[in-house]
Amino acid sequence: MSVGRNPDEITLIAVSKTVPAELIREAYELGIRDFGESRLQETILKLPHLPNDIRWHFIGKLQSNKAKQIARHFDVIHSLASRSALTELEKVDQIICAFIEINIANEIEKSGIFPNSLDEFVSEVIECSQVHFCGLMTIGPNLIDKEQMRGYFRDLRFLNQKVGGKSLSMGMSGDFEVAIQEGATHVRIGSALFGARSDIQPNQQNHGRLHDSG
Ligand SMILES: *Cc1c(COP(=O)(O)O)cnc(C)c1O
Repeated sequence: MSVGRNPDEITLIAVSKTVPAELIREAYELGIRDFGESRLQETILKLPHLPNDIRWHFIGKLQSNKAKQIARHFDVIHSLASRSALTELEKVDQIICAFIEINIANEIEKSGIFPNSLDEFVSEVIECSQVHFCGLMTIGPNLIDKEQMRGYFRDLRFLNQKVGGKSLSMGMSGDFEVAIQEGATHVRIGSALFGARSDIQPNQQNHGRLHDSG
């Protein structure tokens, strides 16, 4: 790779929210084993149609009333951001890997823990027996100039080092190159693989590579 990173240390998560099971299977057949979903009910409907060696990553808003069920169906949670959800995860009789979601730019209305509350929250997560802390995750501001994301990604990497996170979940279709340069171990790619989602980008054509290759 041009950025001096070993591809083996980077996990590509194919974000398959709104994508039908048949198309997920196409991606699976191309070798992808990590998929990201943001709604529990939607995922539960897809699971019976897909191979069981898929690693499912929960990337949606983690509501505490659904946290236990999410822990049972998913392998990794990327969006742990509340004490109430943590309390629920502790009640599940299996260990779940969790990233803490950080609101890295301190944006109002955005989900995630504020950087200045992180130390306290991490110490609670680390004390949990059923939750394995793996690192930090961020979505970051939706900037037009992706180069401007670099500073936020770098901040997240420093925070992650400070709290002893081993993995770093950052980078989406629009900014994954910068995220990888700044140390991402998990990138979450949706539209660049599967095409624009009609639910949030109604005017765009489907440019997905999987579609193009038939
Ligand atoms: C939808 C989503 C993604 C993927 O976004 P794309 O821009 O389609 O790659 C990544 N992370 C989270 C948390 C998401 O909700």
